Amino acid sequence: MDNDLRELYQQVILDHNKDPKNFGKLEKCNHDSEGYNPLCGDRIHVYLQVEDGVIKDIRFEGSGCAISKASASMMTTLLKGKTLEEAEKLFAEFQQMITSDLSKPVDLSKMGKLAVLAGVREFPSRIKCAGLPWHTVKAALEDKDRVVSTE
Ligand code: ZN
Repeated sequence: MDNDLRELYQQVILDHNKDPKNFGKLEKCNHDSEGYNPLCGDRIHVYLQVEDGVIKDIRFEGSGCAISKASASMMTTLLKGKTLEEAEKLFAEFQQMITSDLSKPVDLSKMGKLAVLAGVREFPSRIKCAGLPWHTVKAALEDKDRVVSTE
């Protein structure tokens, strides 16, 4: 990663930690799930209100490292207003990005702001932190009751 992107990565993570978006319980929700990443100790609970195949509202709460929180903050911002199909596509693209080879350039037109999270590729133990919120949302939408674990 070049220095500019590394600085941006750190800045974005810091900003989302200081002021996470959509943080807190969603009182009116019809899907929710809990996720846990035992390697790092990240815990997250996501809440979604889905109507007519569209994510009308989404919030999260929990405690975790800076990466998991920043990822959840960015994810909730992006998923609000998306159809379930769009959400599924974004999940797949995000998962592909954070697990791709470091030498592979990130498609900025597809990933937008999420592209900074490609920075976790330099720190393999952080990939699960970044992916946790997404896996948890997926489980919530599939109405799985058990706690999602990255292990
Ligand atoms: Zn973590």
